[in-house]
Amino acid sequence: MNSLNADITKQMKKRLLDEKEKLLQTLSSLKAQDPFANTDRLNDNAASDTEAKEETDHERYEAIISQQRKRMSEIELALKRIEDTTYGICLNCGKPIEQKRLLVNPAAVYCLTCEKNLEK
Ligand SMILES: [Zn+2]
Repeated sequence: MNSLNADITKQMKKRLLDEKEKLLQTLSSLKAQDPFANTDRLNDNAASDTEAKEETDHERYEAIISQQRKRMSEIELALKRIEDTTYGICLNCGKPIEQKRLLVNPAAVYCLTCEKNLEK
């Protein structure tokens, strides 16, 4: 019996959906904070050091946003795998992912052993 019990899967699904919701909020608030998204700056003859700062801020936002998007795709994959009933099975070796690990990261797709091997 490889599959997780239904209660755990249900619990993980709820956590994934909650996290997805939060990510969507974070992403939209990040976009609102991006100085490049602010159309007023077009009328703003700011000094070049302000421009440079905005550039850096923009890059920082981009980095955070891409990180959040990556997390979002992990969550979506995990949710898809719940639907496919392959949730909790390691993508690499096909063995069940440790339940403890899923409790820490509900979006985990590799078991601890494979994760460690892949990091090398
Ligand atoms: Zn594995």
